[in-house]
This record gives sequence, C-alpha cells and structure tokens, in this order.
Amino acid sequence: AAKAGGRDRISVFDPSMYTAAVMEAEARTELERGLANDEFVVNYQPIVDLPSGKLVGVEALARWQHPERGLVAPDAFIAQAERTGLIVALGAHILRVACHEVARWQREIPGAENVRVSINLSARQFQEADLVDTVRAALTDSGIRPDLVVLEITESLLMQDVDATVVTLHELRDLGVRIAIDDFGTGYSSLSYLRRFPIDILKIDKAFIDGITLDSDDATLAEAVVGLGKALRLSTVAEGIEHIDQQEMLSDLGVTYGQGYLFARPGTADEIAAMVREHYGPDY
Ligand code: C2E
Ligand code: MG
Ligand code: MG
Ligand code: MG
Repeated sequence: AAKAGGRDRISVFDPSMYTAAVMEAEARTELERGLANDEFVVNYQPIVDLPSGKLVGVEALARWQHPERGLVAPDAFIAQAERTGLIVALGAHILRVACHEVARWQREIPGAENVRVSINLSARQFQEADLVDTVRAALTDSGIRPDLVVLEITESLLMQDVDATVVTLHELRDLGVRIAIDDFGTGYSSLSYLRRFPIDILKIDKAFIDGITLDSDDATLAEAVVGLGKALRLSTVAEGIEHIDQQEMLSDLGVTYGQGYLFARPGTADEIAAMVREHYGPDY
C-alpha cells in the first residue's frame, strides 16, 4: 500500500496501518499457538423437533479454552481466524472433533443412532480446493453416517462465487451430507436465487424469532420466511427460541425444528451426551 500510494502521499509510512498489521500478525500467532496446544473445544446445542421438543440433533459451536482469557466465545475469534486464513485449519479441527464425538454418542447411547450434527463452515473454507476431501476424511475417520451431518453456510457465501459454490455444494451433497443456510433472512437471497443452490434446510435467524409473539409485523415476516422454506420444500429450523409461546407459535406456523435457550444452552460434549442419554435412554 505504501508503494501504490507513494508519490502523492505525504506519509509513505502509515503508523496506524503498521499497528494493525502487527496486531493481525500477533492474533495469527496466538491462534496458531492455541491450535497447536489443542485449546479449541467444541460445545453442542440441542436442536429439537418443534411440536414435541424431542432432541433430534446438535449444533457444534467452537469455543477457545484460553489459558489466560478463559472460555472465549466464537464472536471473539472466528472473524480473526477468517482474516488470517487460520479458519481453514480450525474449521477442519472442529469438523473432525464434532464428527467423532457425535459418532461416539450414536454408538454408545442406545436409540441415539439418528442424532444429527450441524457444523458451521466459513466462506473462507470454500476457497480451499480440498474442502470436499477434508469433509470426506472427517466422515470416513469417524465412521459417522453422512446423512446425519449438516453443514451450515451463510447467505453471504452464496453471493460470492456463485458458479464455484454451486459445484462445491453438489460435491458435498454427493458425499451424502445435508446443507443448511444459517442465519437465514439476514442476507439478501431472493427466492429465485436460492433455487440455484442445492440446499436442504433453512435456519431462520433469531432476529425474526425474537418479536413474533409481541409484534404483528415481526410475526408476518417470520411467516413469510417460513413460507419461503415451504415453497422451496426445505426443512426449517427456528434459531434463538427463548419462550414457550414462541415455540407454540412457530410450531403452529409449521416450522420443523427449533433451537434456543428454552430447550438448552450449548454445553460440553459430556453435558450434552448426558442429555442425549436422558432423551434416548431405555425409559424414554
Ligand atoms: P450460529 O451458527 O448462528 O450459532 C447460533 C448462536 O446463537 C450460538 O452462539 C448460540 O449459542 C446462540 N444461541 C442459541 N440459542 C440462543 C438463544 O435462545 N438466545 C441467544 N441469545 N442466543 C442463542 P455462539 O456459540 O456464540 O456462536 C456465534 C456464532 O459463531 C455462530 O452463530 C457461528 O456463526 C459462529 N461459529 C461458532 N462456531 C463456529 C465454527 O466452528 N466455525 C465457524 N465458521 N463459525 C462458528
Ligand atoms: Mg450455525
Ligand atoms: Mg445460526
Ligand atoms: Mg444466528
């Protein structure tokens, strides 16, 4: 940048840019260190069948067990991992861990063989030529049934390199996994646009769920998003359900699945395995 702007710029050396670059390099080193020390762990949040509340799957959510900072939420490191490219290695790690853990529950907990796992993928991971190989390896190594794995992608990914994304999504689906659009409604996808992508599930963003029982405009919007899912013959998941009246209303609207603090907060592998055992034990 210093060279490009050189001639007519007063200061060739921009200290604020220097600081930003140093901070970025430090963040990268710190993420690399955390990855090498196996500090990234996976928490799981139940996804339930809406009318019954029965656990049908879990979403894998990354956490950083930092030696000084404690348990760090993804909002504080995913964006940085994306910028530095470290998300590729981190994402592969999360994918491996989540597939192995859920495969273990499926094996060890009678009745839980159909519990699904959803895993978030960043747009950055789609730029890697070996994404499909990485997913295939995680499936093979863990022995998990591919149809029980859901890959969550965001609408913004779909806006990027449309043709390449369509190809990759088809390759992923050929492995047997399902594709979900995460945070649906916060991006800019139109109905005709969405039809071009091989997707199975729409996850309706919490922003549309929050006000549904309080505000009739919000309810109308949520209904429209649900209608979009139905028109495209996709299953729907409502994110961020916190109140029972939201569950009832979404269930009445025909939303398939729900996720939110009302049912369970994200928990450690052991906590959620215990919950799965409770749901599927011999007495269920
Ligand atoms: P997301 O994929 O939309 O995940 C749902 C987020 O909503 C989670 O936050 C979850 O804890 C939170 N949530 C669930 N139910 C409720 C509720 O009832 N109320 C409220 N207030 N929040 C609820 P979390 O774990 O902090 O993750 C934030 C975001 O970080 C995720 O949003 C996802 O975009 C990203 N993320 C997490 N793990 C990964 C990962 O392994 N890879 C990538 N690329 N992104 C990840
Ligand atoms: Mg997600
Ligand atoms: Mg989401
Ligand atoms: Mg969300």
